[in-house]
Amino acid sequence: MSINKVGVVGAGQMGNGIAHVFALADYDVVLNDISQEALDKGIATVTRNLDRQLSRGKISQEQMDAALARISTTQELSVLGDTDLIIEAATEREDVKNAIFERLLPHLKPETILTSNTSSISITRLASRTDRPEKFMGFHFMNPVPVMQLVELIRGIATDEETFKTLLGVVESLGKTAASAEDFPAFIVNRILMPMINEAVYTLYEGVGSVKSIDESMKLGANHPMGPLELADFIGLDTCLAIMNVLHDGLADTKYRPCPLLTKYVEAGWLGRKTQRGFYDYRGETPVPTR
Ligand code: NAD
Repeated sequence: MSINKVGVVGAGQMGNGIAHVFALADYDVVLNDISQEALDKGIATVTRNLDRQLSRGKISQEQMDAALARISTTQELSVLGDTDLIIEAATEREDVKNAIFERLLPHLKPETILTSNTSSISITRLASRTDRPEKFMGFHFMNPVPVMQLVELIRGIATDEETFKTLLGVVESLGKTAASAEDFPAFIVNRILMPMINEAVYTLYEGVGSVKSIDESMKLGANHPMGPLELADFIGLDTCLAIMNVLHDGLADTKYRPCPLLTKYVEAGWLGRKTQRGFYDYRGETPVPTR
């Protein structure tokens, strides 16, 4: 099946990055969000990130202008009716995602492929709530989308070979690399990454180290490019907590118990970079540890 027009639902950190890479690869993109502010912010972020690529000589002015012209925005799901591929990248809550597909389906062509960028929710379960589980897949981009090379492709139990092959071709056309993962909680990358971040929060919670010493230890002692708490702020603490809950519920093993301190930060609305406060405070010139 040929894919020309893509609908991206959710214009947050991931949605705008996905719109960016698809538009740059010559796809027409309709970006949807319930919030006009999120759409405006999303386009501003795409523009800023394209500009950065332009100043580094990675793209030309023509490519930047053409990419921006290919992205349109809307608060109405019905406008996504003539798209060939849907990428749902809204808030990591199963009820939110189910409601989006339920409202979207009546407007779509029968052959449109449905995907979710979920970090952890069962693809089989999301697919089962739609009218086309065989055309439903997990399409898991990494943050920041324009920079990260990997895309996880997750087949639900009913996903057909044609859908898988079509998405494999799409990943290639974006110049990225696909990794195929089975549909078990959090797939591959987050199954390994999130328990490490959660353990870093426990290390802070138990007073073994401060924010600074934990991040420095993992950067200098394990050669990680970012410390785990810095990375958690970058991903979003609400997303981290949601993924830990999915691992805990889905695998029923206490080793995935979310750290109470992670829960407390989320309850405070300190969600990391996107709210300017998390394990670091980003409101000043340089990030300052909050503990
Ligand atoms: P975010 O909070 O930055 O953005 C979510 C957006 O969804 C918001 O703009 C919100 O207004 C919008 N939204 C909420 N309900 C909606 C609805 N009913 N219709 C349309 N839009 C709606 O979150 P994010 O970090 O971009 O995460 C989005 C998805 O991507 C989640 O499923 C997350 O698990 C996944 N993901 C996140 C990361 C990461 O590092 N943040 C990485 C890979 C995948």
